[in-house]
Amino acid sequence: MIPAVDWLAKRARLSPSRMALMEASTGRWISYAEWNQRVNRAANALGALGLRKGDILAILSTNRLEYLDLLFACNKTGVILQALNTRLAVPELQALLQDIPPRALIYSGDLSEKAATLGDAASVMIALDEPVRGGHRVWGELLKQASDRPPDPVPLDLEDPWVLCYTGGTTGLPKAAILTYGTITWNAVNTVMSWGLQPDDVAILNAPLFHTGGLNVFTTPLVHIGGASILCAAFDPDQVFDLLERERVTLFFGVPTMFIRLQQHPRWERADFSRCRIVISGGAPCPMPVFERFFEKGVPFKTGYGLTEAGPNNFWLPDEKARHKPGSVGSPLFHVEVRVVRDGREVGPGEVGELWIRGPHVIPGYWNRPEETARTIVGGWLRTGDLAMADEEGDFYIVGRIKDVIISGGENIYPAEVESVMLGHPEVIEAALIGVPDPEWGEVGRAIVVRRPGSALTEEALLVYLRSQLAGYKIPKSVVFVEELPKTGAGKIDKNALRQRYGG
Ligand code: AMP
Repeated sequence: MIPAVDWLAKRARLSPSRMALMEASTGRWISYAEWNQRVNRAANALGALGLRKGDILAILSTNRLEYLDLLFACNKTGVILQALNTRLAVPELQALLQDIPPRALIYSGDLSEKAATLGDAASVMIALDEPVRGGHRVWGELLKQASDRPPDPVPLDLEDPWVLCYTGGTTGLPKAAILTYGTITWNAVNTVMSWGLQPDDVAILNAPLFHTGGLNVFTTPLVHIGGASILCAAFDPDQVFDLLERERVTLFFGVPTMFIRLQQHPRWERADFSRCRIVISGGAPCPMPVFERFFEKGVPFKTGYGLTEAGPNNFWLPDEKARHKPGSVGSPLFHVEVRVVRDGREVGPGEVGELWIRGPHVIPGYWNRPEETARTIVGGWLRTGDLAMADEEGDFYIVGRIKDVIISGGENIYPAEVESVMLGHPEVIEAALIGVPDPEWGEVGRAIVVRRPGSALTEEALLVYLRSQLAGYKIPKSVVFVEELPKTGAGKIDKNALRQRYGG
């Protein structure tokens, strides 16, 4: 048993006056000492409500300081944070809360309509803003009655759960990955070390905190080293450009859609990324033109690979390789072991197989899902369901997903590859490829495409373009033009929704 550290108490002792956090909406920075006091108060308020080690606190909130206060209040009390995807519909939320009933649920005012219909999903309901019902407690009032002195220490081990984080949802029914103190700590250690994070780093935090991308790409690693995060309530390109001009931003993580939107914005041409040491895309394959536009600005833009169940940070591509190997995620971090496996056999460079990952950052399993856990983590190896390939130098490429492969007449089509080519067309903004049943071929590809506003691109013209770049069997058999593609809570294209809508 290795004890887990009270992160904020420790950080506040080591670097009390360092700036820790800023909410982009207010522009006010708080130091680690101030933040630790806020978190002490939050922990005491949870204690006064009767929440103890092992109890579950569900949170349904957009990004704001209180979210991170509660994350670290859990660290002081042993309460487990159940991070709910704010974009889920009420029936989906109800299903999650029935599956894992929390002791308390805390919600933000902008989600009060959803909170109202959730009824009394937990015995203690807490409003961060206005309560939607009598009987709900108000967080601000609870804080007023709580002391900001350190609460009595609660012994925690690295094996103890810290956050229940629902996985992306593009692969099936959502399940809660158990992020422990150990997995979060190892991800932080590895990221700080292998990505070279510094105490003077400042990250823009755009991704939602209910997703491991918001929580663990930069935020928890930065607390580990004493760096700072700027918290954005939602992704807003104008706000990002303002922050780049005003603050000394050095780190920027986003999903590809965010970078595409930044590059389509009128302020893109003038945007200055010169102080950004790391600009990294993750969560989905990033189209090549996005890389090129960053390279034109002299930014060694790169792509990372991760998932809720591991890290999420697993690889690193050094700056000097960024331009030569756009799209490569680089080589595994120090404490990360990987294998590429096909037909039960580990394959070498140049061969595609399923990516398996092992290391102290891999979750012990899914909450209350022993079968899914046993299927996914075998002998300590996480079977990612993603297809990868290494080159001769040991740098990896993510080339698709096992569950997202279209098999047409016995040929495997990797949508990621076709999508990347479609996105290279100057009149295509977003594109996805799904499989639809076909009597002759078993399955054929259908492209779902968003055109640039005003574009008159036709199906035939797009197919001519694709035929010029791809093998015949990879060419979609039909194209549907739409206004926008559905996204998951993490901002990724929701393939399940697309299959339901256009897969018939
Ligand atoms: P999540 O657990 O929601 O973060 O989803 C993780 C999944 O996102 C992975 O299993 C991959 O399928 C996908 N993913 C993450 N990073 C990349 C990447 N760089 N390229 C392609 N797919 C990615």
